[in-house]
Order: sequence, then structure tokens, then C-alpha cells
Amino acid sequence: MERVGVDDLDDSVQAAAVMRHLTEPLGLTDFAMNYYELEPGDSFAFAYHNHEIQEEVFYVIEGTATFDTDAGPVEVGPDEAIRFDRGEFQRGWNRGDERVVALALGAPLDYGEQVKLRYCPDCDAETDNELDRADDEEAVVAYCKECGTETGRWYRGSMDGDVP
Ligand SMILES: [Zn+2]
Repeated sequence: MERVGVDDLDDSVQAAAVMRHLTEPLGLTDFAMNYYELEPGDSFAFAYHNHEIQEEVFYVIEGTATFDTDAGPVEVGPDEAIRFDRGEFQRGWNRGDERVVALALGAPLDYGEQVKLRYCPDCDAETDNELDRADDEEAVVAYCKECGTETGRWYRGSMDGDVP
């Protein structure tokens, strides 16, 4: 048995005000679980992306999350859940006025290959990106895989990386 309190966990550097990994503290071996709080403008992810082998569910506890999908934007309100299949592209946002509180669950634990699409000004196109840690792990940086241009940079609790 493992028991954790979200308030006792450290924040991860994400595109969201609060993101706490529950996977490791709970010793999960077959699925991933993360707790999120998104301020208006925040996102669950660094890019419009998919997972090769992991399906994923977002359960919204408070607020309304908007997921960009290949079928257009989809709003998910309190006590609603949305599931994305392997290979499906998505990126969830808080486009409302109130904070979004949500859980993300993915199985299996390994997500396999990811395609991470972001707009690259040098390529003038949506291109695949790679993520890297910078500034002694204090930041996450996205680079265009086509030309190497930096397309985003995030610090703890900050959305700066996505401001155009
Ligand atoms: Zn580029």
C-alpha cells in the first residue's frame, strides 16, 4: 500500500500552474497518473501531440478544459471525462475564466514514440519538436526537429513558453 497527499508533492515544470506526478510516489507500474491545476491560458501539454502506445483519460474536477483535436475543439466540464486513443492528437487548454482542476490517467505507463507539433516561425509550419531541460533543470525548452529553432520555453508555474 502507498498513500500520498497531492499537497506534499513537488511541482513539475509544465505548461500548467500546478502539475504533480502521482505515478512514482504511488509506485504505479502499469499506468500513469498526474494531478493538474490550470490557470486561464495554461495547458496540459507542451505541444499538440499523440502517444504511440498509451491511451489517456482526463477527468475534470473543476472548471472547463478545452481539448484541441483533429475533429476540432472539445469542451470537458466538471465531472466529465475524455479519452484519447493511441495515436490520436490532442492538446488540452484552459480557455475559461476559472481554474481547471483535473486528473490525467494513461496506460500503459510507457507512452512510446510521441509526435509533438508546434508552430515554428523559421519553417513557417507546424513541425515535430523535441523537449530538453535547460538552466539546471529549471526550464523545459522545445526545439523544432527540422531546423533547431527554439519554439517554446517554460518555467515552473509559467505559461511564458506559449506566448506568441
Ligand atoms: Zn523549424
